[in-house]
Amino acid sequence: MSQRSLFAANAYLPQGWTCNVRLHWNADGALTEIELSAQRQANEAQAEFVLPGMTNLHSHAFQRAMAGMTEMAGESKDSFWTWRDLMYRYALHITPEQIQAIAAQLYMECLRQGYTSVCEFHYLHRAIDGNWYARPEEMALRVISAAKQTGIGVTMLPVLYSYADFNAQPLRHDQRRFTTSVDDVLTLVDNLAPERNAQVEVGVAPHSLRAASIDQIRAVHAALPTNRPLHIHIAEQTKEVDACIAATGKRPVELLLDTGLVDQRWCLVHATHLTKTEVQGIAASGAVAGICTTTEGNLGDGFFDLPDYIAAGGRFGIGSDSHVSQSPVEELRWLEYGQRLRLQGRNIANTADQRQVGDFLWQQALLGGAQASGRQVGQLARGYRADMLILNDHHPNLAGLTSNAVLNTWLFAGNDNLVRDVYVAGKRIVQDGRHVAQTEIQQAYVDCMRNLRAL
Ligand code: ZN
Repeated sequence: MSQRSLFAANAYLPQGWTCNVRLHWNADGALTEIELSAQRQANEAQAEFVLPGMTNLHSHAFQRAMAGMTEMAGESKDSFWTWRDLMYRYALHITPEQIQAIAAQLYMECLRQGYTSVCEFHYLHRAIDGNWYARPEEMALRVISAAKQTGIGVTMLPVLYSYADFNAQPLRHDQRRFTTSVDDVLTLVDNLAPERNAQVEVGVAPHSLRAASIDQIRAVHAALPTNRPLHIHIAEQTKEVDACIAATGKRPVELLLDTGLVDQRWCLVHATHLTKTEVQGIAASGAVAGICTTTEGNLGDGFFDLPDYIAAGGRFGIGSDSHVSQSPVEELRWLEYGQRLRLQGRNIANTADQRQVGDFLWQQALLGGAQASGRQVGQLARGYRADMLILNDHHPNLAGLTSNAVLNTWLFAGNDNLVRDVYVAGKRIVQDGRHVAQTEIQQAYVDCMRNLRAL
C-alpha cells in the first residue's frame, strides 16, 4: 500500500500554523484525518513546513506560448489592444496537440511553484477554419488531458463568446475560433460532464460584458447546475468601462450586480476599475475578485482597490492569466507592492485579526481561489483534497525561522523557489523541485514551440 500520511513539524491549518501534525488521506486523495499533537516517528514521511497548495484562479493556458514575446515597442502607443492583436494571431494557429503540450508545460511550472489547482478560462474552442472539431469539446479535453498528465486539479470553464463589442457587434474573422452561442457552451458543459470528478470540475465563463449580452448571461446562469462556478472578465480596461457606459448607461460591475445574479458562485476577474459603491457591491455579493497582478502589470491595466475591498470584507484570489509569471509568490508580492507604490505606504494587506501580511495574503488567496474553483481545496482539513506544499527548510532564508515568519519570508525575500515537494490528491508529483514527468513534458513543449515560432 502506498504511504498515505505525512508528519508536519509545522502545518498551516485553517486556524494558522500548528506544530506536530500528522495528515492522513485516502486512496481517492481526500484528507481523512488531521492528527494534532502527533509524535514524530523515525521511519515516516516528514517535513518541517507544510502548507495547502494554491489555486491559480485564472488561466488562458495557450498564452503561455507567447509570454515574453510582446515586450518590444511598436510605432504607435502600445496598449492592451495591440497586445491582443498579437495574441489573436498566435491563437489562430494552435492545434489540439499543441495546446496540450503548452498547457502541460504551464501546469507543470505552476505545480513546481506551488499552485495545485487551476481554473482554465478556455475560449480556443473551434478548429483553425472556424468550424467545430468532430468533438466540439476537443480543445477543452486536450487541456484537461494536460491537467491529468501533470496532476494539477482543474476547473474547466468553457467561454461564452458571441460578440466583438457592446451592442452585439459581430465577431471578426480573427475571432472565429472563439465563437460560441449559449447553446454551444451548454453543449460543451454537457459533453464535458463525464470528466467531472474530485480533480476536475466544469463551470462556465461568459467572456466579458463586451462578448456576452446580459440576456445570454441570464440564460447560461439559468441552465447551469447550481453548484457550478461562473467566471467573467469584468472591468480590466478604462476603455471597456467607457464603452459599457456608452452602450448601457452603467459601469460593468454595476451592470452585472444589477442583474441580481452575482453570488458566491461567481469570480469577477480583473475588477480593476471600480467605484467605491462597486467595491462594496462585490464584497457584499460574496463573489471572489480574481486579481492577476503580473498580467495586469504587464498589460498596464491599473490597480485593484485592495484596502477598501479588504475593509468591506471582500474575497479575493490570484491568477496568472497570460502566464508572464507562473509563481504565486510573484502574484502576491506584486499585489502588495502595487498597493504600496500606489498609496506610498507599507503593510497594506492585513486586518486586525491577521497583521502578518504574508499570512493574510496566502490565506485569503487560498480561500478565494478555492471558492472560485468550485472544488474542495485550499485547506488542510478533513474532506479536502490532500494538496500540500513542503518548503525547503534547508534554504538559508528559512534556517532557524519560527513558523509565523515563514510566509513573510517566502513571499517577500528573494527569488529562489522555496517549494521543495508538492503533493496533489495525496500523490507526490514534485520532488526536490522536479516534476515527476518534467523531462518528457518539457521536450514536447520545446518541439511545439519550435514549430509555433517558425510561423
Ligand atoms: Zn483573462
